[in-house]
Amino acid sequence: MNSILRLIKKLLKSIIPFWLGVKIRGWWQIIMSWYYYGNKQHCPYCQKNFRTFLPGGEKHDIIPRLDIIGAGFRKNMLCPRCYSTDRDRLVYLYFNSKSDIFTHNIKILHIAPEGSLKAWLSKKASIHYQLGDKYAEGYTDYYYSREIPEMDLTQLPFEDNRFDIFICNHVLEHVEDDRQALKEIYRTMKPGGFAILQVPIGHRLEETYEDNSITSPAGRAEHFGQFDHVRIYGLDYKQRLIEAGFRVEALLPESLGTDLQIQQLAINTRETLYTVHKPF
Ligand SMILES: [Zn+2]
Repeated sequence: MNSILRLIKKLLKSIIPFWLGVKIRGWWQIIMSWYYYGNKQHCPYCQKNFRTFLPGGEKHDIIPRLDIIGAGFRKNMLCPRCYSTDRDRLVYLYFNSKSDIFTHNIKILHIAPEGSLKAWLSKKASIHYQLGDKYAEGYTDYYYSREIPEMDLTQLPFEDNRFDIFICNHVLEHVEDDRQALKEIYRTMKPGGFAILQVPIGHRLEETYEDNSITSPAGRAEHFGQFDHVRIYGLDYKQRLIEAGFRVEALLPESLGTDLQIQQLAINTRETLYTVHKPF
């Protein structure tokens, strides 16, 4: 059924012009937000309330087997109005806990930007906001903004010590040389700056599992939980960040918001938010 729906969507996208497609999606989101209106869930990005979020994420056997958090199918995940996900809303809680952050001028680099977070940050007057994306295959989606500069995370076109904040969520598990990417993140961050580096983590994996001989989409989905992932990080993820020179903060949602907020935003209470800080 899902594959038929996907096929119909693909067909429609090939015949409807982009500008009209964007309008139709906008109307659809408004209708959905009325349909799902309620008082149980709250999206902090679009400020709307719902009886439930929409389901989302892929089902792969390896996800429950390795107890991977931050990936896989979730019943109550996607905002019907702005399509924020549970993990985007966790990032909101982090920013919200740093109340003074937007009171002075700061430079942010946001790689592979999540739509809801991008829309929210774009409105902040104090931010010099730089975006970047690799436009990897499978992500050059119909709706994806074509105005984002193309960028390789392992070779960033910026001088040293430029950004106060670096946002790069669910990207490192796609990058073959993630240690080089971490070097680049470190190099371009200001001393005293921080980065948010969410990745899916297998909680039954002591050590990160990677094997660069597995290159087919089917093989990667089977071994790493998605067609284009090149590894599954294990509980040693923190160590990899420390090796890059960072001070690491691993924050559980309970340290960022109240129980009620966590419930309303439908955040996984076991999802750790990894933030790294470049020492002065
Ligand atoms: Zn929303």
